[in-house]
Amino acid sequence: MDIDEILKQKQLKITPQRRAILTVLERSESVLSAQEVFREVQELLPGTNFSTIYRNLDTLLSRGLLCRIPRENGGDLYAIRRESGHHHHVICKACGASFSMDFCPMEALERELKKQGFDPTEHRFEVYGYCNKCRSSKCDK
Ligand SMILES: [Zn+2]
Ligand SMILES: [Zn+2]
Ligand SMILES: [Zn+2]
Repeated sequence: MDIDEILKQKQLKITPQRRAILTVLERSESVLSAQEVFREVQELLPGTNFSTIYRNLDTLLSRGLLCRIPRENGGDLYAIRRESGHHHHVICKACGASFSMDFCPMEALERELKKQGFDPTEHRFEVYGYCNKCRSSKCDK
């Protein structure tokens, strides 16, 4: 993935912070909180402050480069957005691995709600649990 190219395509200025955030999220196997992104970016760019990271996460999110996934017990997690279409996330509570699925439970519900005169504009749907790897390591214990 050519980070500079992607930033250019989205008409975003290439800054060391944006480059570092995307690098960190790209190589991470799990979804990360803003705090975790911050810690890893600091290793690449010492002296970066948290508010800069937070602001940039927001910008990258609004341009469709990231996904924001609510954590089961509050707070948000971030991942590189690899999907172009509408999708939902499945998140492992043990290792933080995230899988996306095209299936949208809203499709059926939307028709039903429209019949009742309700116009849904957005929705959230996440599934939390344990991935195959974490499930089997739990069984070993
Ligand atoms: Zn996503
Ligand atoms: Zn797992
Ligand atoms: Zn959906």
